[in-house]
Amino acid sequence: MSTDLSGIPGVDKILNHAATGPLITRFGRQLVVDETRNVLQQIRTGIFNGGRIPEVESIINTIAKNLSDLERISTVSVINATGVILHTNLGRAPLSANAISAIEKISSGYSSLEFDLPSGTRGKRTTQIEKLFQKLMPVEEALVVNNNAAAVLLILSSLASRKKVIIPRGELVEIGGGFRVPDIMKLSGAKLLEIGTTNQVHLEDYERAIKAGGEMILVVHPSNFRIIGYTGKPSLEEIVDLGHHYGIPVVEDLGSGAILDTSLFGLAHEPTVQESIRTGVDVVSFSGDKLLGGPQAGCVLGKSMFLQKIKKHPLARAVRADKTLIASLEATLIAYLKHHAVEEIPVWKMVNADLNGLKTRIEKWIEQLGCGEIVAGKSTLGGGSMPEEEMPTWLLTLSLNKPDHFLNILRAQDTAVAAFIKDGLVCFDPRTVFPEQDPILVSCISKSLSIYKKDKNHEISD
Ligand SMILES: *Cc1c(COP(=O)(O)O)cnc(C)c1O
Repeated sequence: MSTDLSGIPGVDKILNHAATGPLITRFGRQLVVDETRNVLQQIRTGIFNGGRIPEVESIINTIAKNLSDLERISTVSVINATGVILHTNLGRAPLSANAISAIEKISSGYSSLEFDLPSGTRGKRTTQIEKLFQKLMPVEEALVVNNNAAAVLLILSSLASRKKVIIPRGELVEIGGGFRVPDIMKLSGAKLLEIGTTNQVHLEDYERAIKAGGEMILVVHPSNFRIIGYTGKPSLEEIVDLGHHYGIPVVEDLGSGAILDTSLFGLAHEPTVQESIRTGVDVVSFSGDKLLGGPQAGCVLGKSMFLQKIKKHPLARAVRADKTLIASLEATLIAYLKHHAVEEIPVWKMVNADLNGLKTRIEKWIEQLGCGEIVAGKSTLGGGSMPEEEMPTWLLTLSLNKPDHFLNILRAQDTAVAAFIKDGLVCFDPRTVFPEQDPILVSCISKSLSIYKKDKNHEISD
């Protein structure tokens, strides 16, 4: 078979074509030239494999599509109809309007990030956050780093390198995304002194380990799992008292870092940061984007003698918080300080959502869609917080033959929608959908339904 490449248009022909002009304006000549060469090369390869030469217009369309793909920001907005409030794959906590406006202000120009304006000398970037935490609870010092994984690594590296750290076997957990407590401990140079069993640890186990040379106690909150049945461990207070009796520090990785009491919202009680501080824990760390409802961050709170060491460790500079984190975390903490958290912070607004309000929204969705049913369901906190806890909710359900296929279509919409399947039904939980997103959601569902129906017709006619 002979291969005729002579019909392939030259680079110049493509570049001089009227339809290419706007591409050159938008992307610059060099990018368009490079992409044109790329696409023409692919056509040549295609022809060797028996392909045909496309029309010039179609070649330009391919070039335009490839260039647009380059320009697209990879992380796009998603409507979360899963009912999982802290969905790690969907970016955990959405920020409050005040937190977003703080980010806009600080990132659009220069700022006093490390500049003390009254004296005109160098300042510290986390001074204000430290002050806010001190106002919220009786804590001596605070530091904020990039995330809680970094916070735990930094604490252990600065306080426990080459030291024996006591930890119960039931707390050698994997948080997800490759964060395993024993690995982080080894990385920091700490030596594990494992005590107890998977399901049980007693105060005597701790005491024996201290007598065997233990130099620090690490308490890790079981954020994302529960051991039920025959289980037991001493209270944080007992552990702290024991540690202090023998003069060794007690460090806690609290995980979620709730400042509001979850039991006020009909959920089980999640230990709060204030409670940890009040028991006298020496250092406690937690995430900014779990139940705190702020940006990704690792908050480190505790006693001066330890925080001073942590702040001076070289790793502190390597994992330091950026200005957008600092600005948005400050705005988030201010909401707690003013007792506005439930009104302002999306995570708490969602936890606190009125059931009747959720139902009314679905009724409106159904009216606009012309289909769907209302079914009782459960929302969850997610994000490695309170795995057993569920909140009653109302769901919009659609009964379709191929629910998986419908979820794929929903995710391919201009604004992607994340829904879920339960009992064979496609379900949408309004709790995690912002009310202002309702019109877009309805339009996405409705578009997806027409695509789905067309697909089915196609199948039948095939
Ligand atoms: C979530 C969690 C972490 C990791 O926190 P990130 O902020 O995601 O880095 C560490 N420890 C515990 C106990 C957690 O729950």
